[in-house]
Formats: sequence, structure tokens, C-alpha cells
Amino acid sequence: MSDPLVKYETAPSLSINYPDCSACAVEVEGDGDGWMCPRCGTSWPYDAGDGDEGQLYEDWNGEPSEGELRTHDNGYLPTQYERDNPKPSIWEDLGIQLGRIMTGAPSERSSPE
Ligand SMILES: [Zn+2]
Repeated sequence: MSDPLVKYETAPSLSINYPDCSACAVEVEGDGDGWMCPRCGTSWPYDAGDGDEGQLYEDWNGEPSEGELRTHDNGYLPTQYERDNPKPSIWEDLGIQLGRIMTGAPSERSSPE
């Protein structure tokens, strides 16, 4: 490990930033003009930042969306189409991996005696 190049008065927080649709919890795709959620069709401009509201598929496309109507609170749940056409998800895999790590590493709290 090399010596640090900068010094802060207080420790920064860790930022793990990945562009995803907050309602679907899936990674958005760059489509040339901006970002688009492959699941709900919402689009964002390329310079959109964390927490920026996108534009609904119907609004930018002018065509009604055929997708199932959801609220943001349950938008991440699988749709009927996804239940009928299951595909391996990296997030599911990640969840399994995390579960293994968590069960494999019990917390080492000192037991009160
Ligand atoms: Zn979405």
C-alpha cells in the first residue's frame, strides 16, 4: 500500500454508484441520447444525477405502454411476463452470494458473562 496523497479532516463516506431505475431496481441502459430502464421504459438524460426523476415511456414515446401498471413501491416485483419467462439475474446471484457470506461469517460479538 502506498502513502496517501490527500488528507481529510473527517473520513468521507463510501459511494457505490450504479445507474439503475429506483422503482424496478434494474440497471439502466445507455441508448445514445441518455439512459433508459429496459423494464419500464423510463428514460433519463445522460447528465441526470442521483435521485433525478425520469420521463415515462408513454411521455417520451407518445405510445401507450403495454406493461403492467405498478406503483414504485412494488415495481421491483416480477411481472407475469417475468414469471413466465424466468432468466438468471445477476442481482439474484449477488443476493445468494451475500447470503452465503453472511451465514458463513457469524458476527463475533463478545458474549456477556
Ligand atoms: Zn424501471
